[in-house]
Amino acid sequence: MGRIAGGAMKRSWAIGYVSVLAASFLPAMVVAVWLGAGIDEDAYDWMFRHHPPTGSATGSILLAVDEQSLMDTNRAPGLRGLLAEGLERLAAAGPKAVAIDVILADQGDPAQDAALEAAFRELPNLVLACDMIDDGRRWEDALPRFRRLAAASGHVHVDPTTGGVTRLAPLEKVAGQDRRWALALEAYRLSRGVKEILESPNDLQVGALTIPARWDESRAIRIRYRAQPTERVTFWELKSHPELAERFRNRVVFVGVTAQSAAPDRHITPLSDARKIAGVEIHASIFDTLAGGRMLVSASHLQVAGWCFLLALAGVAAFAFRSGWQAYALAGLVLVAAHLGPYWLFAHDVIFPYFAAVSAAWLSTVGAGAFQFLTVRRQLRRSEAQTARYQQAVHFVTHEMRTPLTAIQGSSELMTRYNLGEEKRKQIADLINSESKRLARMIETFLNVERLSAGELELKQETFPVRQVLEACLGRARPLAERKQIRFEVGEVADALLTGDRELMEYAIYNLLTNAVKYSPAQTVVTVEGRPDGQHLRLAVRDQGIGMEQHELRKIFQKFYRTGRAVESGEAGTGIGLSIVEQIVLHHGGRIEVTSAPGNGSCFTLVLPVKDNRGHI
Ligand code: ADP
Repeated sequence: MGRIAGGAMKRSWAIGYVSVLAASFLPAMVVAVWLGAGIDEDAYDWMFRHHPPTGSATGSILLAVDEQSLMDTNRAPGLRGLLAEGLERLAAAGPKAVAIDVILADQGDPAQDAALEAAFRELPNLVLACDMIDDGRRWEDALPRFRRLAAASGHVHVDPTTGGVTRLAPLEKVAGQDRRWALALEAYRLSRGVKEILESPNDLQVGALTIPARWDESRAIRIRYRAQPTERVTFWELKSHPELAERFRNRVVFVGVTAQSAAPDRHITPLSDARKIAGVEIHASIFDTLAGGRMLVSASHLQVAGWCFLLALAGVAAFAFRSGWQAYALAGLVLVAAHLGPYWLFAHDVIFPYFAAVSAAWLSTVGAGAFQFLTVRRQLRRSEAQTARYQQAVHFVTHEMRTPLTAIQGSSELMTRYNLGEEKRKQIADLINSESKRLARMIETFLNVERLSAGELELKQETFPVRQVLEACLGRARPLAERKQIRFEVGEVADALLTGDRELMEYAIYNLLTNAVKYSPAQTVVTVEGRPDGQHLRLAVRDQGIGMEQHELRKIFQKFYRTGRAVESGEAGTGIGLSIVEQIVLHHGGRIEVTSAPGNGSCFTLVLPVKDNRGHI
């Protein structure tokens, strides 16, 4: 029985922990999808700041229109003139590729445009910027006279994500039917002498470089901003120190406006909390990301779900298989893994949703910890109840069994000490025999009731006539009654059949009879009757004894409770008998009723379901 109960408990524990696992993993996933994006991006920026990508120079350099260069153009020769002048010097240095992040769609001053056109003609691998207009329906390109000279036309869009921070660069943009690659990608392609970009659903191939960029995400890549600002030479510096042109030799040059007052596109990067950087620096950073060859790749949904599940599993396992400080230490490790895992992965170029991992770990460890705490408490309560039952058993053995034992002991002593006649010896031997049988029955009854209340015993299902049991009990109780000259008056007893455990039922009825005798003065009458009452039999034992107070009536079924009068009378026993009687009656589907008044006797009635003579209930 114990083993079966233990197995059931283990099963319910297992179910409990599996539920905690499900209840931590699934919400973690949902929360991660719906709420986590913002937190994930913040964590990403934080990691970016604490682990900014370093690496060798990748060959990009800015030729920037800063405030000072602008002031110069205000005097003469205008922005396009300034560009023409600077680019001429740049061309002489022999750059690898030149990307111009200035939209040249409008007609400018004819002389300046002509100068710019002339400068463009000298530049190798020229990429010009184009802009999406008309709500994304078409591209605005540079004037044909310029475009004709360019090797490619690249878009200059970046997508600021949560919190207005520019983390992603879409390498592809489509306006109408016209698809354009990003300015930086075109510059990269040309600088590497690649003719065509090869496409597959999950990546782009530019010469030897494979770029993990999905077609259904606009071929977006995460920009690896460098901690140090991109190397730059301003137009003003180049004008004042023409020898600086040497720095452009064999480099990929991004030309654009960095002056705060003039650059319309300024961006926040994960590295700059408030400081914004100009679009041209972003394009140079995209180029550096490509040229560096190390892309930041997002973990796949399956990987995220898998890792979160592992974390939740580990969190639950910590409490399912360990307890105390070991469980807490393991749970702590799981939490550390959840918090540090995304950082470690970031350092290895994998972006992992921080919030999903952390919530899976926290929900599982807290859930499993709480579950363990509750089950441990329940177990404690159960073992306390077991201890109490055990104590009662000891009580029962020491008190209730003492009477028959004393009788047996005394009788056997009589037999050995004195030379008794044959008849007396037989009488004493009979007494020893009957008392030891009673003892055995008592033990059996007690154990059965214990098992019944612990749910470990199925009630026997015998069918027996109530009269038979009653007569047996009366027979056993009569000698006791006679000693006090108490008479049993048996009234009408229905001819009914009871179903259940005959021995237990006998114990119950016998107990009521002996109580009636014990708590009645000598020379009184105890009435017994068994009236049918619908589907029940009302078996009543009425005495003319000491009776009980009303407030005591509710307590007499508690173990060890004895009324004051009973104790005074010197008859009170252990106070355990009625508690067993009640258990027995309840397990037989019946109930017990008591009426009593002090000095006026008591009436105990067992109301039991019965079968009629034909065996129907
Ligand atoms: P015990 O009789 O061994 O003390 P029981 O559980 O059978 O234990 O009874 C509990 C208490 O109920 C008794 O101690 C007594 O105070 C009271 N009691 C039981 N039966 C009677 C009765 N017929 N008349 C008066 N008091 C009774």
